[in-house]
Amino acid sequence: MYDQNNIFAKILRSEIPCKKIAEDQYFLSFHDIAPKAAVHALVIPTGHYKNVHDFTTRASTDELVGFWKGVNTTIDALNVAQNGYRLIANTGTDGRQDVPHFHIHILGGQDLGPKIVMS
Ligand code: 5GP
Repeated sequence: MYDQNNIFAKILRSEIPCKKIAEDQYFLSFHDIAPKAAVHALVIPTGHYKNVHDFTTRASTDELVGFWKGVNTTIDALNVAQNGYRLIANTGTDGRQDVPHFHIHILGGQDLGPKIVMS
C-alpha cells in the first residue's frame, strides 16, 4: 500500500519545497536535502509507486519511458555524464529505503569510492 503522506508525495503536491532540477508530466528531480557527494540528486516518478519493483510492475510504458528519460534529463542538467556517476535505488527493509516513494539517487561530481562497504 502506498503511503500518501510520505515526504516525496508532499513534495509532489508542493506542500513542502525542494530545490528543483527538472520536471515534466512523468518525473520530478531535485537536490537531496542531505547530500552524500558533491552532486546528489533524486529523481521520482509523478505516479504513486513505493519502490522500483512496484514501479516496474504497475507503471505504463509511457510512465516507464518518461521516468527514465527524466533520469537522463537530470544527468545532463547536472553535467556529470562525462566524468561518470552512480545510480542507486534503495529498496525495502534490507535496502534501507527511508522514503517509500520510488526514487533514484544520482551521485557524482567526485570520485565516489568503493561501490559497497559490508560490515
Ligand atoms: P532512501 O534511503 O529512501 O533511498 O533515501 C531518501 C533520501 O531522501 C535521503 O538521501 C534523504 O536525505 C532524502 N530526503 C529526505 N527528506 C527529504 C526532503 O524533505 N527533501 C529532500 N530534498 N530530500 C530529502
